[in-house]
Amino acid sequence: MPRPRLRTLALVAPSPASHRTASTAAPLQPRHDTRWQGWQPTIGLELHVQLKGNPKLFSHETATYDATPNTHVAPFDAALPGTLPTLHPTPLRLALLASLALKSQINSLSRFDRKHYFYPDLTPGWQITQRYSPLATGGYVRVRTPPLRSKGAKKGKGKAGDEGGAKQEEGDEFFTVRLEQVQLEQDTAKSFHDPSLPSGPGTLVDLNRAGAALIEIVTKPDMRSPEEAAAFVKALQSILRSSGVSGANMDKGELRCDVNVSVSPLSSPGSGTRCEVKNLNGVRFISAAIESEIQRQIALLQKGEEVESSTLGFSALTLSTFHLRSKESSPDYRYMPDPELSPLAVPAELVSKLRGEVGELPLEREERVRETYGLGRREVGVLVALGEGEEGAEGEGDQGVGVRWFEEIVKGGEAREPEVVMNWLIHTLLGVLTRNSCTLSTSPLSPSDLGALIDAVTSKRMNGTEAKAVLGEYVAASREGRGGKGGFAEVLRRELAARPAPSPSSSAPDAAAQDNDLTALIDSIISSHPLEVSKIRAGQTKVIQRLVGEAMKRSKGRADARRVAEEIGRRLGV
Ligand code: ADP
Ligand code: MG
Repeated sequence: MPRPRLRTLALVAPSPASHRTASTAAPLQPRHDTRWQGWQPTIGLELHVQLKGNPKLFSHETATYDATPNTHVAPFDAALPGTLPTLHPTPLRLALLASLALKSQINSLSRFDRKHYFYPDLTPGWQITQRYSPLATGGYVRVRTPPLRSKGAKKGKGKAGDEGGAKQEEGDEFFTVRLEQVQLEQDTAKSFHDPSLPSGPGTLVDLNRAGAALIEIVTKPDMRSPEEAAAFVKALQSILRSSGVSGANMDKGELRCDVNVSVSPLSSPGSGTRCEVKNLNGVRFISAAIESEIQRQIALLQKGEEVESSTLGFSALTLSTFHLRSKESSPDYRYMPDPELSPLAVPAELVSKLRGEVGELPLEREERVRETYGLGRREVGVLVALGEGEEGAEGEGDQGVGVRWFEEIVKGGEAREPEVVMNWLIHTLLGVLTRNSCTLSTSPLSPSDLGALIDAVTSKRMNGTEAKAVLGEYVAASREGRGGKGGFAEVLRRELAARPAPSPSSSAPDAAAQDNDLTALIDSIISSHPLEVSKIRAGQTKVIQRLVGEAMKRSKGRADARRVAEEIGRRLGV
């Protein structure tokens, strides 16, 4: 067996000061929350991230989660006597990428510790981790502050009566979650308790996962509510995905989370005793566990009792936490430096090479697009989120695909207004693609095709409704393999060739005739829908859509829906 190689020691260039400003930010201001008037919850998270490709940390094997048990096991993974660890370069690379994306300071020298305990899924009797001298220290994640949830408020849409009330919108406020550290460690094997083995009840162990590389990310206690914790986890998922570190899907175990919760009077935030809830595997379970724990601790404190420092589990059935063990009875892990692993030196050249690979993070991308094109937050948010692997979705998606399409279209033509391109992209094209079970990445249409279609509408060679029909028919046809040679460009060329080119002399009478048709159409709809008309006049502007639907039906889809809506609104004085 090869001895572990001692790597050359190299100093890491200090990161720019801007990377550090947020990590030394002042502690959070308390936030008043009507659900727990007078109390301040404090929350810190410990997260385990499975790395993309599932490399093992100290062997050449790849961890698997669905293969026949015990088929991906190197001798070292089974802790056979005499085997020695060799650090695998892939997990190191991914952990460094994660550290950079999280603005964490990479330590030029880090060390591996053994954490000892006995369990069937831990064959050697210890786990190799980096508790005391981690790969990277500090760092932070900027998170958009979620709206406060008041007592009794329902999740989701507000009731009609809420409109115009004090409903708080998700806005442009941010909070910072500072990180303690980012460390490399091994995963355990998987054990199955089987009561029906031929030899009687027993435990089976599958070593396919044994020794898989994980990174552990520990946050400072910088979150104040279940919603803030959930928002942080989502921001972290999106960073891990966009930097190519992990799929970070909680339901697949790619991201696992322990939460630490304490509660204190608003007057002395952070002074409470903390409890830890282990192993939460969904963002909604993280929120539910924190909420249940806050309520439990407040109830104890209100009775004048103490919160005992303890480790808890969470039941997804009852959505509440339950006692596992008190901190006094927590095991002594007998940490010691691993004698078989030399200190890990990270060469500065490697760090600077990886710095270039991290790319633009989702929030940075969002801010750049908003600034450059002067667009609203909500629509840019939709654009940036496109292609991101959603929880429960297959794979990690295609990061940044929405912004790539958008910029390619805007830059691909002279007169393409960002606002107009955005509408076509996120409303029209996405709608059509979704109805045909496609995404931007699998779209039969290219960005330049959509650009050409937008140009046709802008230059009035087609109206919006006609363009949408061409688009819808083409996508549906391509899905059935009838896209035709020449693709969309050819379809559009044929479609435009069949119409007269816009010229001032021919388009004026045309436009006048169209205007007359539109006026007649709207007249007849207004006179045949008195009930809808009175509702619209009374301010129920949503009802306009019903009349637009009717107009589309009567004109067999040829009317320009947007103009119809505008015209009806204008005629009814809303
Ligand atoms: P341990 O070594 O016992 O795991 P740490 O000090 O490393 O303890 O903290 C572990 C986690 O507990 C971190 O995520 C940290 O943010 C969180 N934490 C620390 N203090 C508090 C507190 N007062 N309330 C809630 N969480 C806390
Ligand atoms: Mg801990």
